[in-house]
Amino acid sequence: MSRPVTPRADVALIAGYHSPQLDVEVRLNTNESPEPPPDGFTTALAGALRDVAWNRYPDRAATELRARIAAFHGVEPAQVFCANGSNEVLQSVLLAYGGPGRRALVWEPTYALHSHIARVVGTGVVVEERAADFSIDPERAVQRVGEVRPDVAFLCSPNNPTGTEDPAATTEAVVAAATSAGTLVVADEAYGQFASSSALDLIADDVPLVVSRTYSKTWSLAALRLGYLIGPSWVVEDLDRVALPYRVDAVKQLAGVLALDHVDDMESRVARVVGERERIVGALGSLGVDQWPSGANYLLFRPRSQDGSPGSVERGDEVWQGLVDRSVLVRNCSGWPRLGGCLRVTVGTPAENDRFIEALADLVGTP
Ligand SMILES: *Cc1c(COP(=O)(O)O)cnc(C)c1O
Repeated sequence: MSRPVTPRADVALIAGYHSPQLDVEVRLNTNESPEPPPDGFTTALAGALRDVAWNRYPDRAATELRARIAAFHGVEPAQVFCANGSNEVLQSVLLAYGGPGRRALVWEPTYALHSHIARVVGTGVVVEERAADFSIDPERAVQRVGEVRPDVAFLCSPNNPTGTEDPAATTEAVVAAATSAGTLVVADEAYGQFASSSALDLIADDVPLVVSRTYSKTWSLAALRLGYLIGPSWVVEDLDRVALPYRVDAVKQLAGVLALDHVDDMESRVARVVGERERIVGALGSLGVDQWPSGANYLLFRPRSQDGSPGSVERGDEVWQGLVDRSVLVRNCSGWPRLGGCLRVTVGTPAENDRFIEALADLVGTP
């Protein structure tokens, strides 16, 4: 069929974002929370739905939600911007500060959506490489921010898919360099509550830094599609210029507020996930895989080849398929640049993690 209409030439070249789903018993591939939110939350939400003024547009400024998020982080409501998932937060940032003739800097390997969304809105992408251990070399980063003078620079701590946490000194150095280079630093902290440090402490009106967070992971609300940004109030004003009006619907606003009534529950879920993560780290330590330290709810690992030599793309694919055959789905990063042979497993429930460990032991054995 001939096509009467074509997209923008650069859009035609962009591959869509894919995270394959398969029908398996143990799904450890998308970094969701293994536990649902507490019953108290779902009951309160169901009750509150009866009082929604369905015929009216929602509160465009999401006043209560922003006030509650602000109080949770000890900032002002004017420093909070909400959207449909943190991916839409990132898109809004790039609509306002990226675009044709502008550039974004990323440190690969990192979250694919940073460069993907940048390209979709016509922003040039400048790629820097992480060190062999997937950390960012602070001296080189400072130098490159000064040379490239990007409009936006993306940090991601803990970094997806490697789990790497940026030391506070690295974040501070990049933010200082960004201030002189006219760069807005986006610190993607989708896994912030699992980590030991946060860039939130650096937020101030004269600092070009924003932190993006999500309800999708630690809050067990991936289905809700709610994310937000904390940053200088002038950034929030700029984002309001490009974001669609009424984008945060009434249900999302209610649910986002009600979730914050259950902070203790969230924190104990996070503690359980971190405990299970450390148990998996221990188990992987006695299997034929290499692994990297993680500050998040997932682990990157690379199965060694059968003769004990370092892994390969083929070996990664083979072990991934072997896990699928045992009804365990992990993310196959094996063919991604810099991640040859690597797989990423999300921390699940204790029973799911047992299934994963048993299946993996079956496939890779001890070193
Ligand atoms: C999961 C994830 C997000 C979350 O996106 P949402 O749109 O909020 O679900 C953002 N950044 C990173 C690095 C992630 O892994």
